[in-house]
Amino acid sequence: MTEQAIRKVGFIGLGIMGRSMAANLVKAGFDVTVWNRTAARMQPLLEMGARGASSPRAVAEASEAVITIVTDSDDVEQVLFGPEGAAHGARPGTVVIDMSTISPERTRRMAERLAEKDVHMLDAPVTGGDVGARDGTLSIMVGGDEGVFRRCLPIFEAMGRHIVHVGPSGAGQTVKLCNQVIVALNLLAMGEGLAFAAKAGVDLEKMLSVVQKGAAGSWALDNLAPRVLRGDYAPGFMVKLQQKDLRLALEAAAGMNLPLLGTSLVQQLLRSVQAYGGDDDGTQAIVTALERVGNFRLRGSADERPRENK
Ligand code: NAP
Repeated sequence: MTEQAIRKVGFIGLGIMGRSMAANLVKAGFDVTVWNRTAARMQPLLEMGARGASSPRAVAEASEAVITIVTDSDDVEQVLFGPEGAAHGARPGTVVIDMSTISPERTRRMAERLAEKDVHMLDAPVTGGDVGARDGTLSIMVGGDEGVFRRCLPIFEAMGRHIVHVGPSGAGQTVKLCNQVIVALNLLAMGEGLAFAAKAGVDLEKMLSVVQKGAAGSWALDNLAPRVLRGDYAPGFMVKLQQKDLRLALEAAAGMNLPLLGTSLVQQLLRSVQAYGGDDDGTQAIVTALERVGNFRLRGSADERPRENK
């Protein structure tokens, strides 16, 4: 007997990423039930036709698949296994899809706990930033049972464009950490390229417009460098979240006895951004640390804003 297509999707975590991803599920015609810790953030989704729930448990009671996209491993554990957690409301056969970026090891343990209740878990972290979440063009890397993955594919297709099953439970998070290592180094590459151009006195826009199209091209150059030139340090991806991801990557690397020299350097530069009060800035604020190190100023520098020295 073929299993019925999943129509009822629960959604937990309506932050920068989650609110757009949930909106895309509503637009694709899924029957969506949402919950967010800060209840006011549910309002725009309710206006689009989603139902609101009073707890993660209530989300699971109303859903065949439950998506979580919160912050870190402890937060996923809280919304799944806390007193009003989704695990308590999930029926056998329900699929939990965690799309946060968290520890691969903790993911495997949570999947085992859910399996004891005959609840499936896929880890399905994403990349593509706030822009990809809004446009429904995320890349999604999925770990877990392949049959369950195939059943959930229409859900992923409503939110993303490049969707790959990468292996068993935890493999999605491992691939996401590979992604974050590369993202971190592209961020530094963007910052040092801009620093070099600023100090040498060439036109920053012209430099960008030509190098973007060649071998130096990257997502960071296309999406973050223009924000730097506009003096826009609002977060697509917050410094504190990038630091979470680099901590996860460095912890996993330490467990394998693998030195990650460049990644550690980016972590230290972003720590300087944090020391100057930039936890909630977008990661493009790495240029402000480079400005301090190199004693130069880009136009529209974040350092021109008043800052609390932490
Ligand atoms: P965000 O804007 O800070 O949103 C975090 C969400 O998680 C909020 O809805 C928050 O609720 C909720 N939350 C956090 N801890 C919770 C807890 N203990 N219990 C219940 N709810 C909790 O972050 P984001 O940028 O959307 O990122 C979410 C996840 O996606 C992170 O794992 C991040 O690493 C990953 N990610 C982000 C990006 C990006 O570009 N932003 C890209 C790829 C992956 P409140 O509203 O109550 O605070």
